[in-house]
Amino acid sequence: MATLLSPAADKPVLTPLAAQILDTLVHRIGKDEKAARPHDWLAATIFTVRNDIIEKWMDSTREAHAKGAKRVYYLSLEFLIGRLLRDALSNLNQTHDIAGALKSLGVDLATIEEIEPDAALGNGGLGRLAACFMESLASLDLPAYGYGIRYVNGMFRQRIDDGFQVELPENWLQYGNPWEFERRESAYFIGFGGEVVGTETGHVHWKAAEGVEATAVDTPMVGWRGKRVNTLRLWTARAFDPIKLDQFNAGDFEGALAGQTRAETLTRVLYPNDSTAAGQELRLRQEYFFSSASIQDIVRRHIQYTGDIRTLPDKAAIQLNDTHPAVAVAELMRLLVDFHDLGFDEAWDITRATFGYTNHTLLPEALESWPLPLFERLLPRHMQLVYAINAKLLREAKAKGVDDRAIAAISLIAEGGERRVRMANLAFAGSHSINGVAALHTDLMKKTVFADLHALYPDRINNKTNGITPRRWLQQANPGLTALIREAIGDDFLDDAEKLSALDPFADDAGFRSRFASVKRANKVALAQHLKELMGIRIDPDAMYDVQIKRIHEYKRQLLNIVETVALYDQIRSHPERDWVPRVKLFGGKAASSYHNAKLIIKLANDVARRINADPAIGGLLKVAFVPNYNVSLAEKIIPAADLSEQISTAGMEASGTGNMKFALNGALTIGTLDGANVEIRDRVGDDNIVIFGLTADEVAEQRARGYDPRAAIDASPELSQALSGIASGVFSPDDPDRYKGLVGGLYDGDWFMLAADFDAYAAAQRQVDARWQNHEGWNAAAIRNVARVGWFSSDRTIREYAKDIWGVL
Ligand SMILES: *Cc1c(COP(=O)(O)O)cnc(C)c1O
Repeated sequence: MATLLSPAADKPVLTPLAAQILDTLVHRIGKDEKAARPHDWLAATIFTVRNDIIEKWMDSTREAHAKGAKRVYYLSLEFLIGRLLRDALSNLNQTHDIAGALKSLGVDLATIEEIEPDAALGNGGLGRLAACFMESLASLDLPAYGYGIRYVNGMFRQRIDDGFQVELPENWLQYGNPWEFERRESAYFIGFGGEVVGTETGHVHWKAAEGVEATAVDTPMVGWRGKRVNTLRLWTARAFDPIKLDQFNAGDFEGALAGQTRAETLTRVLYPNDSTAAGQELRLRQEYFFSSASIQDIVRRHIQYTGDIRTLPDKAAIQLNDTHPAVAVAELMRLLVDFHDLGFDEAWDITRATFGYTNHTLLPEALESWPLPLFERLLPRHMQLVYAINAKLLREAKAKGVDDRAIAAISLIAEGGERRVRMANLAFAGSHSINGVAALHTDLMKKTVFADLHALYPDRINNKTNGITPRRWLQQANPGLTALIREAIGDDFLDDAEKLSALDPFADDAGFRSRFASVKRANKVALAQHLKELMGIRIDPDAMYDVQIKRIHEYKRQLLNIVETVALYDQIRSHPERDWVPRVKLFGGKAASSYHNAKLIIKLANDVARRINADPAIGGLLKVAFVPNYNVSLAEKIIPAADLSEQISTAGMEASGTGNMKFALNGALTIGTLDGANVEIRDRVGDDNIVIFGLTADEVAEQRARGYDPRAAIDASPELSQALSGIASGVFSPDDPDRYKGLVGGLYDGDWFMLAADFDAYAAAQRQVDARWQNHEGWNAAAIRNVARVGWFSSDRTIREYAKDIWGVL
C-alpha cells in the first residue's frame, strides 16, 4: 500500500492501517514517530495485529461454547514457540498489508520481526512439538487449550567464550510481552505440604501448610488462514499475601516480601534439562503447580458449562506431554473424590477416560520418579491417592495371574533401595491411551519400559508419529521455495501438505531443478551473510552445507560427526590430489548446564573448527563452525539453507526427532541411522533419496547383550584410531593437551553410544554423499523428491490422528 500524498497539506496521508499503527504507537506506547525505537514499533505492530486476533479469538470461544464442543487440553511443561509476529501475520494473510503500512511510516517489517525475542519456554524437540501442535489444533479448527508455565527466564542464552559454552539468562520479557493477556480473575490456590485430616461429615480434607496463587496469562494461537484462534494459558505464581504489612511496618522489609519472592521463584526458570529428570524439589513443585492450576481450571469450566462432573470425559480430553504433568492424574482424582463426592471407582473411570499420555523417551535415566518421602511431604493427599490407585492396579494384575516380578515392574512405587514414585507408571495407569511418537519408538515401548503394563492392557499403547507445522517450517521459513512450489503445482499444498506429492514429477524436469537449485543457493547466501555478521566467519555458498543442529547429547552423537570431520581432515591432507567435495560443517545446540561430556563436545567442535579453518593446506575444502545459541529463530534460518541433514543417533535412542522432518521438507538429504522417525522418512522418500548407515536398533541391543568391545572396533579402523589419537594427544587443544583424554578414553572403555561400532559405516556413507553431490542433477532431483514426499510429516496429520483415535473430537 503506497503512501498517498495529499496535495493540500503536502503531508503523507496514511492508509487506515498505517494510521492505526501510528495511533497505537502514540496512545498505547506513549511515543511519537520521532521518539519511537524499533521495539516501540514492534509493540505497536503487535498490538495492532492483536486487535484483529481478539475478535476471532472471542468468536472461537463463543462458537465452542454454543456447540457444547469437546475441548482438547494439552498439558506441557514446555512450549518452544519462538517468535510469533511473522507466524500471526502469515496465518492471517496480513504480511503484505502490514509491511506496506509500516513502509509508509518508514519502518521495515523484516527488521522489527528480527528483534522480537524468541519465546523459548522449552528445551528442544518436546517443547517445539507442543508449539507445532498448538498451531495445528487451531488450523484444524479444533477447540483446544495449551497449559504450561510462564517462565520469566526460559531456555538460557548460550554464548561461546573461547570455545566453551557459557549460560546466560534469557530475558525475553525485558520489553514486556504484547502478545499476552493477564487474567487476574482466573486464579487458583495451589497448596503444598501440611496434613490430611478427616472431617465430621466423613470427608477427607487436605490442610496445606503453604500455598501460592496461580494466575493465568493467555496468548492467542492463530491457526492457518485465521480459521480459529485458541488459547495458550501459562501460569504464573504469586503470593496470596504479597506483603506482610505488620512485618513491613516493623522495619523487616525483606521478611515482609519473602513470601512473594518464594512464590515467584516457582515460575522463574525452565529447567535446562533435556532428558534427565531433575531431582530438585523445585521441579516437583513446578509440576504440581501447573498441573493443579490446569486441572482446577478445566474442572471449573466444565462445571460452569454443564453442571455435571460425571460428563467430564465427554467434554474434555487431557493430553499429558510426557510425564512432567503426570501428577495431574492424582489431582483430578483428588478433586473428584474430595470435592465432588464421587466414589473412588467412579472417579477412577472418569479420570482414565479423560487422560491420554504421550511418552517421549526410553532412556532409563530420563524416566521421572520422585523419592517417596519428598512426594509425601509435599503432596500428602496425593500420596494417599497414589497408594489407592496402586492397590487397585495391583489387585487387578493379581486377579489376572500376573507374577511377582511383573507386579513389581508395574507398581507405581519402585521398591528396593530408596522408594520412589514412578511417574510413567502413574501416567500409564491413569490414561486410556498411551502413545509413542514414532513407529519404532512405540514398538520399543511395548518391548521395554512398558512391557508388563502392555501385557496387562494390550489395547492402550498406540503410535502417533510426530509432525511439524508446514506453515512455520516451509511457508514462513522458506518463502523462496514456497513461491517456487506454488508456481509449479498451485496452492493446494498450502492447505494440505500431502498435496506436495504433486511436485514429484518435477524432479525429472531440468528447468525446475535449476530453479530449485537457485532457491537453495539464495538461502545459502543469506545464511552465509547472517553467519558473517553473527560470528565473523566466511562460508562458501557453493560448498555443501552439512548441518547438525539439535540439543547436544551423547546419544545424538555429535561426537561421531566431529570425529569423522577430523578423519576427513586427515584424509584431505594426506591426499590433496583427490577430487574432494567442499563442505561446510555446521553445528549448533545447547548442552544441559550439568552435563559435562556434552559441554566438552561443544568445546571440541570449536577446537576442531579453529584448527581446520586456519589450515591453509586444505585450501578451504573444509570449514567447520559452531553456531552459538541455537533456537527456533536460528533453525528457521539454517534449515532452508541446508544440503545435508545429520540424523545420526544410536539406533533405538531417539524417540522420533522432528529436526529430521524440517530438513527433508526444505530439500536437504538425510544421512542417518534407522532411528526414530528416520525409519518412516526413508519409507516415504525411498531408499534412493536418503543415505542410511549403521546398526539397527535390534543390532545395537544384540551387541550390547553380547558384550560389545569398542577397543576391538577402534583397532580395526585405522581412520578412527588415527582421528581419536590426534584428539586425545592434544592436536586440537595444544593449550591443554589432556582436555579430551577422558572423552576419548570413555570410548575405549565402554562407548555406550556405539560410536566406534558405527564409525566406518558412517565414514563410508559420507563418501557416498560426496559422490552423489558430484552429480548435481541427481542431487537436486533427490532433494526435490524429499520435499514432495514428506508432506505426511505435517503436524496436521499427527493432530488429526490424535483427534480421531485418542480424543474423540473428529
Ligand atoms: C525442531 C527443533 C528441535 C528438535 O530437533 P531434533 O533434531 O529433532 O532433536 C530442537 N530445537 C529447536 C529449536 C527446534 O526447532
